Amino acid sequence: MNFVLRIGLGFDVHALVSGRSLVLGGVTLPHEFGLAGHSDADVLVHALMDAILGAMRAGDIGLYFPDTDPCYEGVSSLELLAFVAELMKTGGYTLVDADCVLALETPKVSPFRDQMRENMARALGVALDSIGLKATTTEGLGFEGRGEGVSARAVVLLECEQR
Ligand code: MG
Repeated sequence: MNFVLRIGLGFDVHALVSGRSLVLGGVTLPHEFGLAGHSDADVLVHALMDAILGAMRAGDIGLYFPDTDPCYEGVSSLELLAFVAELMKTGGYTLVDADCVLALETPKVSPFRDQMRENMARALGVALDSIGLKATTTEGLGFEGRGEGVSARAVVLLECEQR
């Protein structure tokens, strides 16, 4: 059996607004602003899902979870990630490795980093070691630096049977 490797890249941005929770990697962080969006707006999980779908050459999250569909209103993005994990399994893909970067000015992510990695690893059914996560500020520059929004990037490596 021949196996091939596929890489995927995901990127997402959500705006910070008042009256919403700040959910990142399935963890609700203490903060006076939260991310605007149709689901829980978990920008990190969205970037990771898009990276996986990219590696599968299977479109993007808008295709599977359209924001016009009321059934995704307020839904936990970890549930959507578990669905993407099912798509991976059905398609014969295995996640070899993933790494993610969050860009935001505040709050500090490091105290919650391992819980976020654990949440995403559990939803995907992979080892904790397979999910990397870092966070950075943008030194006050850009929309992240002004506290107007949060961006996330993710790269994944998938293995699949050659067809
Ligand atoms: Mg999104």
